[in-house]
Amino acid sequence: MDVAAEYGIIASAYEQKHGAHSRVHQMAKAYLFSTSTDMIGFLMATTDGAVRTLLDLGQPRDTAEAVRHFTSRDPASFWTCGQWRTEQAGGTDLSRIKTRAVPNDDGTWSLHGRKWFTSSSVANAALVLAYPDRSSADETASDGDHEGLGLFYVPIRSDADTPPHEGIGVNRLKENLGARKIPVSEIALDGARALPLETRHGTRYLTPMVEIARIWNAVMATGFMRRGLALARDFSRKREAFGTPIIEKPLHYDTLASMQATFEGAFQLTFRTVELLGELENRTLSDDGMQLLRALTPLAKLLTAKQAVGVVGEVVEAFGGAGYVEETGIPLLLRDVQALTIWEGTTNVMSLIALQLLRRERRLRAVRNELQRYRDAVESPVLVEAVDTAEDAFRSAVTWLAEALDEFPDAVEAGARRFAMTIGKSLELALLARHAQWAMPNEGNRAVAVVEHLAAQGIDEIAAHRTYDARMLAHDYTAQSLFRS
Ligand SMILES: Cc1cc2nc3c(=O)[nH]c(=O)nc-3n(C[C@H](O)[C@H](O)[C@H](O)COP(=O)(O)OP(=O)(O)OC[C@H]3O[C@@H](n4cnc5c(N)ncnc54)[C@H](O)[C@@H]3O)c2cc1C
Repeated sequence: MDVAAEYGIIASAYEQKHGAHSRVHQMAKAYLFSTSTDMIGFLMATTDGAVRTLLDLGQPRDTAEAVRHFTSRDPASFWTCGQWRTEQAGGTDLSRIKTRAVPNDDGTWSLHGRKWFTSSSVANAALVLAYPDRSSADETASDGDHEGLGLFYVPIRSDADTPPHEGIGVNRLKENLGARKIPVSEIALDGARALPLETRHGTRYLTPMVEIARIWNAVMATGFMRRGLALARDFSRKREAFGTPIIEKPLHYDTLASMQATFEGAFQLTFRTVELLGELENRTLSDDGMQLLRALTPLAKLLTAKQAVGVVGEVVEAFGGAGYVEETGIPLLLRDVQALTIWEGTTNVMSLIALQLLRRERRLRAVRNELQRYRDAVESPVLVEAVDTAEDAFRSAVTWLAEALDEFPDAVEAGARRFAMTIGKSLELALLARHAQWAMPNEGNRAVAVVEHLAAQGIDEIAAHRTYDARMLAHDYTAQSLFRS
């Protein structure tokens, strides 16, 4: 926590010392910080997101002081903020939330309910979703924004070492697969005092927090890949088999190269998203850029998390038996990284969000324009070929979507993950090609080799399933058929 404050892991995004690049600066620090700090990045992510949400809301009521704490560089006054959303009945489906908010005479509200999963047990405050008690709040049922959930600011404690305020209890600490060094708990709210931020459209106003947390997720995923690769590379220079260090075995370095290419593609996609976020906050983002940022956020989240689990799984294997032994610290990486596929939305839930966003022509156009920019930026024939491959995959996904919507709409949802992965990977490849063009004078063939390795992995998941989809349609069976007894 002290390091986070001193190095401005949150603050540097809001001090705006580097204008539109302030986010890149901050997230570069977060990238270095998060994998060395036992998943405390989760708490940093929600603190960062809370600042964005509170600033966007105009810092209502007493929250201006809280924002000063969240963005402090002084460890003595640095606060963190969590997000309490998930309940036992549902974390994705927020309509299942049961926590109620009852207004008090002094303008505060009292919260009653159980939050089932929070990685912010040690936070100083939380943003909480709850259903306002409409009758006593003298409001009618919600309109439009059908959830009708309210968003509340709950002060928890002013000092990290003190117990939570009255009405907030920790039912139990959870025993998790990973993320074990941050206390993850179930929270009981029995009259916890809360400030109302928005009593009708809470989910809408929580969106900036959620989007920033998803970008943090991608930054953490790339950090994990980089750390795992650094360890695996180092080990491979020291470990010998059949007379040479294993780094000299063609199959071993081919495996490492494939992991490196995946990591570099993920890094490009993540930091392009970060760059757009910085431009948005600096008010220099075009409308096209805005559409692109909306599309890229779920894509970067879902793709990099999955890639990180794959790469870190290979890291475990690259250590042989030692990778499976706790005292090496390697199993910890795999346990921790798995959380990134679930937290802030599972892969499938993110895929459905991406699909929903990309059904709008203006967002597809923004992605197409982005690919075109990379095409214009590359000259080397091999890099032009890589951008061609990326554009082909993008077109394949878009064509599939149009055809599926026309011909077999039920398959659209089933194909959402393949669709999202294909578009995400096409962006990674094209971004990497653009980067290689820039890096070639310094890096020479290395930059190109990375691009070739990523292209060789295959990026079009839609094409791979075309025959399967067509047969499903022709023979009238679905994926559910596999489970018929
Ligand atoms: C380490 C960690 C820390 C966390 N910290 C917090 C926190 O601080 N605050 C907080 O509020 N929550 C937190 N969570 C909870 C997390 O955000 C939720 O668990 C997550 O969003 C998934 O929600 P769920 O548990 O309701 O799963 P469900 O939504 O029930 O998902 C179960 C399965 O169903 C699938 N699924 C759901 N809907 C669909 C659909 N429409 N189509 C296809 N598949 C679908 C999912 O992909 C998943 O595979 C944390 C979780 C973890 C792992």
